[in-house]
Amino acid sequence: MQSFLIFAFSTALAAGPGSESGSALPWYRGALVVSMAYGGEQGASERASVEEAPVPVPEPSEQALRYYWSGNILWVVGQVWGVLVPAAFLFTGFSARIRDWAQRIGRKWVFVVGVYFILFMAINVVLELPLSFYVGYIRQHAYGLSNQSLSKWWMDFIKGFLVVALQGALFLWVPYLILRKSPRRWWLYTSLLVVPFICFQLLIAPVLIDPLFNEFSPMKNQELETDILSLAEQAGIEGSRVFEVDKSVDTKTVNAYVTGFFGTKRIVLWDTTLAKLEPEEILFIVGHEMGHYVLGHIFSTILVVSVVLGVALYCIYRVSGALIERYQTRFGFTVLSDVASLPLLLLLMHVLSLALIPLVLGYSRYHEREADRFGLELTRSNRAAAIAFVKLQEENLGVPRPGPLVRIWRSSHPSLAERIEFCNTYRPWLKGEPSRYGRYFRDHKDHKDLNDIKVVHPVRERG
Ligand SMILES: [Zn+2]
Repeated sequence: MQSFLIFAFSTALAAGPGSESGSALPWYRGALVVSMAYGGEQGASERASVEEAPVPVPEPSEQALRYYWSGNILWVVGQVWGVLVPAAFLFTGFSARIRDWAQRIGRKWVFVVGVYFILFMAINVVLELPLSFYVGYIRQHAYGLSNQSLSKWWMDFIKGFLVVALQGALFLWVPYLILRKSPRRWWLYTSLLVVPFICFQLLIAPVLIDPLFNEFSPMKNQELETDILSLAEQAGIEGSRVFEVDKSVDTKTVNAYVTGFFGTKRIVLWDTTLAKLEPEEILFIVGHEMGHYVLGHIFSTILVVSVVLGVALYCIYRVSGALIERYQTRFGFTVLSDVASLPLLLLLMHVLSLALIPLVLGYSRYHEREADRFGLELTRSNRAAAIAFVKLQEENLGVPRPGPLVRIWRSSHPSLAERIEFCNTYRPWLKGEPSRYGRYFRDHKDHKDLNDIKVVHPVRERG
């Protein structure tokens, strides 16, 4: 679930009306989406003989193409929605009326802000309900991607609303206080405050919020867990924690992610992943997630988001005064520090995010490519990695080569074709070239056995 501040900013990425995922999968988790249905049980000798053969990029199925195009239409609908709804709140004066109700209920300023947010969100959620239900439930079932019961969907939907409403009620007064106290510099202070705020969110989310939606438990397959911990040790990760989550109650798709901060940092594998992928493929996925972890992607993403948010808030600072000046009788407020301005902030944020999201997504794609590289260098399981991506495409109804507009505005990961081709070709160790992340790795006696690699390892550089 998103905080209010990044809520509007990350609509292109996070669960919203246009989201493909059944429940929220925040952008900051650097998710590697993979899937099943490849199903090829290969024996060890068979695998050895085809170890170096490139894995072809499959053509997308007709159903996958339909899912892709209808997904793009829904994305456009979501973008238009994100502009029209806040505009309607503003230009009808409805936002000011909600503020008046909040003043009657809350009385004190801090409570007024909180009550306003809860009322505003409740109305929004009701308005969005048909679209959310279609995207999150009907569509997923229609394409055979979901196992979710209707009652689970409703429970998650209500819990999701309560989490967002509670967070907004608890924290929204902070940026509004800054707006009051520092009318000229609020954009700077708010974007700086976002760093500790997201860190706090990441700290509590894995232990307080995520368990509201699914059950997290230690890994049941102890043999695989041992291999994962051994890989973690090799990647130089101390005291790593790996959890499995019962996503099979929600979806047939397969996924894994890294989340948390400081003491709550962890790698989470969906149980669908564990059930449907071969151990070697799972180890590559875990290696990819370890790459995000070791290379500090979570924290650098937070910094980038803070800077991009600062730019967006500065733009809002520059244009909002003139807009309020011109439409104040319609809006029913005269200053941005009035909580009735929330739809104006969301509207402008939405428009600006269309311009700025490509930067954030480009940075994310760079991270994902480097995490793939890290996973390959760590496991040297090129073929298993490529097959994992093939499974993603086939089971998750992915298309291997999305169009340029989709790449720029929607793709947080490189295309599946690029990833499969990268796995097919990236083997610097075969040419005796240094690996980029070898300095992070510890020598590990099981390395060869673990990866079943049939080449002589060159000496690894140390840093
Ligand atoms: Zn990733």
